[in-house]
Amino acid sequence: MLQYYVKATQTQSYILKRKTYLIILSNGGAVNAYCLKFAKRIWCSVEERCITLKSLMLIDSYRHKGMRKSLVRVVQEKGIKDQKVLAALEQVPRHFFFEKAFLEQAYQDKAFPIGEGQTISQPYTVAYQTELLQVQPSDKVLEIGTGSGYQCSILLQLTPQVYTIEYNEVLFHKARKQFQMMGLSPFTFLGDGSEGLPAHAPYHKILVTAGAPIIPKTLLRQLTIGGKLVIPVGDTGLQKMLRITRVAEEEFTKEEFDNFKFVPLLGNQGWK
Ligand code: SAM
Repeated sequence: MLQYYVKATQTQSYILKRKTYLIILSNGGAVNAYCLKFAKRIWCSVEERCITLKSLMLIDSYRHKGMRKSLVRVVQEKGIKDQKVLAALEQVPRHFFFEKAFLEQAYQDKAFPIGEGQTISQPYTVAYQTELLQVQPSDKVLEIGTGSGYQCSILLQLTPQVYTIEYNEVLFHKARKQFQMMGLSPFTFLGDGSEGLPAHAPYHKILVTAGAPIIPKTLLRQLTIGGKLVIPVGDTGLQKMLRITRVAEEEFTKEEFDNFKFVPLLGNQGWK
């Protein structure tokens, strides 16, 4: 018997085409799968949707967990101290966001192409931004630049209220499917996140995962008092990580951190 880790929101049965291939998905726990190696597809009997066995990428074995532990150690050695952030990194299987052939790359501390000219951020960068954000369990967080959905999955380990917006339609749909396969439920939006997401504001925390030319004022207005915006700002080659805190209605403080290189933030308040 093989064991697959899948986080599910509800108990469901997945029955394979041939009777012998049966997967029982238990609530938020393990999936017991039998004779999977010959299976081509699985059917979700509850939603009557067909999910291809690409979801077998959702296998999280001891080997994967070991690779993740090593990655967390690397990130820790580079200076990340927040135990909750490190635990979140250890919790989320980064290889779920990669094609099967790129398992090794999934656990290297490097950014990696996700299509459409975009990248999944380097784990260190994800940890760095998340640490600066100081997410509390009751926080409502807005992420700008859903991309692969990896950063969003990390944020979801820290608070259930994560809103995420993506500019690229292909990546938006891909990430939504990914969240569904992992049983995660962020609030997902397609649109120009350089303007924030005013309809659901205010947010305790806003995280921008693409390099911005300026600090968009519209994002500042969507923070709660005490709320924080973490955003890389600079030219297209290099950006400084900034943390802006809204200390009063019209008063903000700005802290500066290390330099990074992000893909550009597009849209009205980004690079046109
Ligand atoms: N957080 C992502 C992850 O974990 O994979 C990494 C994102 S990648 C470095 C930056 C993302 O920002 C890209 O997916 C890009 O399409 C998106 N983006 C760029 N400009 C945007 C905008 N104005 N609104 C929303 N998303 C934007």
